[in-house]
Amino acid sequence: MADRLRRTIREVEFLHVADKGRSNAAPLLFWTEPMPELPEVETVVRGLQKSIAGRRILSVRLGNTDFIDDPAAVEQHVPGRQIQAVERYGKFMLLRLSARANAVAGSANGDAETASLLVHLGMTGQLAPFAAAQPYAKHTHVRFGLDDGRELRYRDPRRFGRIAYLTEAVLTEVLTAFGADPLLVSAEEFASRIRSRNAQIKALLLDQSVLRGVGNIYADESLWRAKIHPARRGAQLSKQQAATMRKVLQDVLRKAILARGSSISDFLDAEGQPGEYQRHHRAYGREGKRCYRCGTGIRRVIVAGRSSYFCPKCQPAPRVQKQNKRSRRVRNG
Ligand SMILES: [Zn+2]
Repeated sequence: MADRLRRTIREVEFLHVADKGRSNAAPLLFWTEPMPELPEVETVVRGLQKSIAGRRILSVRLGNTDFIDDPAAVEQHVPGRQIQAVERYGKFMLLRLSARANAVAGSANGDAETASLLVHLGMTGQLAPFAAAQPYAKHTHVRFGLDDGRELRYRDPRRFGRIAYLTEAVLTEVLTAFGADPLLVSAEEFASRIRSRNAQIKALLLDQSVLRGVGNIYADESLWRAKIHPARRGAQLSKQQAATMRKVLQDVLRKAILARGSSISDFLDAEGQPGEYQRHHRAYGREGKRCYRCGTGIRRVIVAGRSSYFCPKCQPAPRVQKQNKRSRRVRNG
């Protein structure tokens, strides 16, 4: 019951994306949970690409299904498909699936065409292959039987994760709602996405329709490195600050991927190993501790509805008067 309630509260944070292609016509909700973010998802995806790409799914066994969009569709349309690739899209994983073996060409159910499984790990989800003979752990809700005798298992004690079977057409529509990948975005596009908006920079970094994949940890870490206060407005940033912001964000994300992500909750990669990047955090979770640059105590404020950690000396707060003038200029011009 408590979990149900927390889940409802968290639904306030979700980005809703219209999803006309699905039979129940409910909006496909996208998680903006604290964990995992781009580096953690990338770490899991790289592990799964090595361990399960090329395998064919022979069977699907479902336990608890309240986090699956359309459990019947997963049971009906996934078996017989080969996992062609495992990719990351923002904070999501995409298992790219072939057409079903022996599907009748042109059949209306889409089985003769490629499809995808969209997976979000929520806070406590783990997706990893195991020998089928190995007993499955408690809270294992999905088991995909593979053609090499293993099972791809999804385990999620708190069930904040999400799984959806999507046809190619629906997937294409869903993905258009997302912004640029922060590792691929050009300097020009990044600057225009940030500097054209009057929202606070922290909110812009978290907004998955602006950039896909950044969450609270890497937003705070990159803002600290860029020496930009989280409440600064996007439109207030100079060209130079936008360029710095992009550079440090990419740098933080790449280093975090090398460290296999941050383990602050229950994050484990596809091999069951925790990440290491939490050792390099300079702002996130460090309230009251000394700034690594200047020794001032790190402070925590709520910006964009989320805890935001920053150094009050290195990241000066925007001056209200100045901000208003600037806002007027932006509105008028
Ligand atoms: Zn400082």
